[in-house]
Amino acid sequence: MSTVTEKFGSMVFDESVMKERLPKETFRQLQRTMKDGRSLDINIANVVANAMKDWAIEKGVTHYTHWFQPMTGRTAEKHDSFISPDQDGKVIMEFSGKELVQGEPDASSFPSGGLRATFEARGYTAWDPTAYAFIKNGVLCIPTAFCSYSGHALDKKTPLLRSMQAINRQAMRVIRLFGNEDVTSVKTTVGPEQEYFLVDKKFYEKRKDLIYTGRTLFGAPAPKGQELEDHYFGTIKSRVQAYMKELNEELWKLGILAKTEHNEVAPAQHELAPIFTTTNIATDHNQLTMELMQRIAKKHDLVCLLHEKPFEGINGSGKHNNWSISTDTGMNLLEPGDTPSENAQFLLFLCAVIKAVDEYQDLLRLSAASAGNDHRLGANEAPPAIISMFLGSELTDVLNAIEKEESYDGREKELMRVGVHVLPKFPKDATDRNRTSPFAFTGNKFEFRMLGSSESISGPNIILNTAVAEELKEFADILEGADDFDLTLHDLIRKTIRDHKRIIFNGNGYDDAWIKEAEKRGLLNLRTTPDALPRFLDEKNIRLFTSHKVFSKEEMEARYEILMENYVKVLHIEALTMADMAEKDILPAVSVYCHSMTDAVLAKQSFGADIDCSYEYTSVKKLSSLTASAYMKLESLKTVLEEAEGISDFEKEAFHYRDFVIPAMEKLRTDIDALESMTASSAWPFPSYGELLFGI
Ligand code: ADP
Ligand code: MG
Repeated sequence: MSTVTEKFGSMVFDESVMKERLPKETFRQLQRTMKDGRSLDINIANVVANAMKDWAIEKGVTHYTHWFQPMTGRTAEKHDSFISPDQDGKVIMEFSGKELVQGEPDASSFPSGGLRATFEARGYTAWDPTAYAFIKNGVLCIPTAFCSYSGHALDKKTPLLRSMQAINRQAMRVIRLFGNEDVTSVKTTVGPEQEYFLVDKKFYEKRKDLIYTGRTLFGAPAPKGQELEDHYFGTIKSRVQAYMKELNEELWKLGILAKTEHNEVAPAQHELAPIFTTTNIATDHNQLTMELMQRIAKKHDLVCLLHEKPFEGINGSGKHNNWSISTDTGMNLLEPGDTPSENAQFLLFLCAVIKAVDEYQDLLRLSAASAGNDHRLGANEAPPAIISMFLGSELTDVLNAIEKEESYDGREKELMRVGVHVLPKFPKDATDRNRTSPFAFTGNKFEFRMLGSSESISGPNIILNTAVAEELKEFADILEGADDFDLTLHDLIRKTIRDHKRIIFNGNGYDDAWIKEAEKRGLLNLRTTPDALPRFLDEKNIRLFTSHKVFSKEEMEARYEILMENYVKVLHIEALTMADMAEKDILPAVSVYCHSMTDAVLAKQSFGADIDCSYEYTSVKKLSSLTASAYMKLESLKTVLEEAEGISDFEKEAFHYRDFVIPAMEKLRTDIDALESMTASSAWPFPSYGELLFGI
């Protein structure tokens, strides 16, 4: 198999394979199930399972798994072989419809936030027939949703699928009002741009912090960082190129539309962007992409770091979630279109997004909140923690003209009437090169730029889909009852702009003045994860999710607890790792190093009393006082850590970590990094930033 087109999707049981291998009637029924998300008849499932098994066995596969996305944000799988004993003491290969459709992993150890009592610990997995089965690492993977026996979602896929249904329901109501008779369904689409770092495996293996936490907890800056701006889009090193080549090929085999690859701003940082696809597929694909990035790196003696902030002093990694809404007839609802009617429909969908982003700022913000991402947001390398929207000056001028019923000062100079006038053309490039906005309109989609590099894109998209569904519902409720559709529409759009324009900001998001201005506008500034997460359970948010049947209240409470606890657990591991490295490796190494210098002084002096030992003398003095200081900071860190362990309320604990443990970690780091910059490289127990960042 040689060409890309032949390779593409070769490991996917996709439509063409189904068509080829399934009886016509089975294929037709399966297609219908996939389209409507209806449950599959067991007889059909048996035929499909058998065809899948034969296809997989021809490719050397012996095992299958229900592949799911628990609340860890990672993916999970448990392999079962196809073997089944026959009477002659031999085996046959079997895979039944029941095994395809439903599984019962012994899943009691996944986070459930109290949703699953231990007596009913075995959650179950159910095939998501809207996603194709695929072969990964020699195993047939069935994409599944993961629920408790009482039907509570325990994963990241179930609520995402529910949110897709919610926006489909409401957007269809709006579409009908514009007379688009041929449209039968609406889906959101996503193209996630993924950033990552690559480091040499031999250095990685010597860094406890990278191994346990995915980021460096210590590290004096290398002489060179990203200041020359020579890495961004720079020539890709041949070892990295070989890695990217293999990664692309493996992604293509899984039907993942890997498209763009380039070096990013920081040394050793790279990006991969796929072509967009339906949101739940894009989410599966992004999980697979992250997994393959890490696995294939090892084959090249590299390690792929997906952490949001692997290195201090240079940029961290994020994920840009490009999001739009389109119909099954191929119409992008966030594309301005050409006719007054298309323009009016575009403006209404645009207004739904504006209103959603304003009213659910808190949710969008918290969808990107994590211990790792707290290092980035608001740190002038990523968007601020304040949610605002960039629309570009042209579109903003149009909205202003509509709101004030004034003439639009563009080329055409005319009074803007929704549904009557044609919008001016927005040159795509003009709509966005403002990289500082957390939520930017880029011509025919929105780019949500707050996401951390390691997080599942499921959460942010559940929120976007549901919040926009709610606004579309409110719009449809008004418009469906209107006597004069055009007039009501025009007024609705005007009112929405007037009420929610505070969320639009086209200026520099890194500017301090913006923080003040945002406060004046009444926008939220939820700086850290413990500030943001509790908002999830605000009354209005519970109403949003429960009314659209995306989450039950219990599911929301469980998720909140899991996310808060995750914050605490991550910081606990980081603090322990820091203490361990300082106590067992760094301080002893510096002490030995000092000893070698005092020995040198003694030797030199016995050699001749007049020999100048000022270098050794001063160094030992400085190192000793810094070591003593670091030792004190280490003790303080241990104290606040012990205090944290005594707090039983997880909310209080989270704030304790933020207010006491993180500052203690930062203080210890300052001393240790200063020690590193004064200690001989040969005496330092860990590879340096220089080796990690420029060592490939
Ligand atoms: P850039 O952000 O570098 O300008 P592009 O605008 O080409 O790049 O696209 C960035 C990402 O947005 C890609 O993953 C692309 O597939 C995705 N994208 C483009 N159109 C849509 C859409 N309608 N819905 C969702 N994502 C989209
Ligand atoms: Mg982009």
